[in-house]
Amino acid sequence: MREGIRDTLVFDMKDLRHEDFKAFEALVLPASLGLAYEEAEFIEPLSCAVQLFRQGNDSVYVAADIETKISVECRRCISPFEVDVTTTLELLFAVGSESLEQREADERYYDGEILDISEDVRQGLVLEMPAWPLCSEMCSGLCARCGAELNHEVCSCETTDESAVHDSNPFSVLSKMLENN
Ligand SMILES: [Zn+2]
Ligand SMILES: [Zn+2]
Repeated sequence: MREGIRDTLVFDMKDLRHEDFKAFEALVLPASLGLAYEEAEFIEPLSCAVQLFRQGNDSVYVAADIETKISVECRRCISPFEVDVTTTLELLFAVGSESLEQREADERYYDGEILDISEDVRQGLVLEMPAWPLCSEMCSGLCARCGAELNHEVCSCETTDESAVHDSNPFSVLSKMLENN
C-alpha cells in the first residue's frame, strides 16, 4: 500500500486507521529541514522511505530509511568528492506533550493528529555527516612546501628537505666536532 511521493516528513494521522500500517516515500529538500553546511553541499534531496504503524492507543511506530548524497572537500588534498549519507530511525510516538511528561531521550510525543519526524531525521543525518572526510584512506594530500597534489604528481621538495635537514641537524654538527677532537 504505497502513496505517491511526498515532499514533507509531516504525516496526518487521518490518513492512517487504527491498527493499520502504511509505507510512504518522500523526497525532501535538505534546506527545508534546516540542513545547511559550509563545508558540505547536498547534491540530492533526501530520499525517505517511511513506514508508520498506528496502534490501538494511537501511539505510532515509525521506521524510516533516509538516503542522500553530499559533496565535500577532502581534508588532505582539498579535492571535492561525493559521499552517500544514510541513516535509519526507529521511533515510537505516544500521544501527549513533551512539556507535561517526564521527557526521556527515546520518548517522542505528538498531538494524536499530526506526526512530524523532520527533527528526528535532521538529527539522525547530522550524526552521519563525515567529520573528517578523506577522498581515500590512501590520499597523499598536498605537499606542505610547494602545494603539489601528491596523488597526481611527485614534487622535488622531499629530497631538498632531506639535505636541508642533514645540514642543520645539530647532531651531525656535534658528531663533526667530536670527530675533530
Ligand atoms: Zn584526498
Ligand atoms: Zn613539494
